[in-house]
Amino acid sequence: MTGFVTRFAPSPTGYLHLGHAFSALVVNAAARKADGVMALRVEDIDQTRCRPEFEQAIYDDLSWLCLEWPKPVRRQSDHFDDYRAALQVLIDKALVYRCFKTRKEIADEIARAPHLARSGPEGPQYSGAALPPDEEAARVEAGEAYAWRLSMAAARDHLGTNYKLLSFCEETKRGAVERPATPEIFGDAVIARKDAGTSYHLASVHDDALQGVTHVIRGEDLAAAAHLHCLLQRLLGYLTPVYRHHRLITGDDGQRLAKRNRSATLHALREAGVDPSEVRAQLGF
Ligand code: GLU
Repeated sequence: MTGFVTRFAPSPTGYLHLGHAFSALVVNAAARKADGVMALRVEDIDQTRCRPEFEQAIYDDLSWLCLEWPKPVRRQSDHFDDYRAALQVLIDKALVYRCFKTRKEIADEIARAPHLARSGPEGPQYSGAALPPDEEAARVEAGEAYAWRLSMAAARDHLGTNYKLLSFCEETKRGAVERPATPEIFGDAVIARKDAGTSYHLASVHDDALQGVTHVIRGEDLAAAAHLHCLLQRLLGYLTPVYRHHRLITGDDGQRLAKRNRSATLHALREAGVDPSEVRAQLGF
């Protein structure tokens, strides 16, 4: 066994489809090739969309595909305190600010200044600032909901010349490339959502560090996230893993598979008595 640790980190917001199977098989093959470990992590911070039957189906689908992983599985919903503590590190360094704005307010603000509007990986780039302390305290006191956003300006100031030196290693088919990180493409990213007290970004980098992940292997739809994750790792004092991004599986219509496309779910294939080795073979395994 080597020190190679990677992970498959699905969210139980629907049944897994062939795209997830491909991802899990790619991650598993990389772990086997390196004589390492594939951890399974359930990313269920969105308690309004995650459901127990989808979580159970993750275990059943992956077992059906003959995959194995160390137990116990880390379920993010059991660890909100950990993410709160990581957020506190950023609060203490004044790198995040409370944002009370609704999506609509942000959209209206951007519409009023279209010449400044830029689009990032998660929609329009937004940058704001903390409210004056009195106003902020009054709105917190009144129980108004807020998100925490990472201030890119504060992060830049905090890191000084090191900001420009941020980079991560991406392993591609043509070899390893050191990529300069450009987290500013996200604008002031939401680090703790109004409804969840954390975000995918914060929980994911926290857990990758905690679980000793050396290689993050995931779909190319998340390639941009590495830029922000690299910054968060630096700010939180975590090591930056190596990144690999695999291609996405598309349906017959050439479109990316989505959880709402029911026919392609692994659950449906399993129920229909499909042989899992056929699925593995179809995906090139
Ligand atoms: N939970 C994410 C998803 O299901 C994956 C995140 C990751 O691999 O970093 O899309």
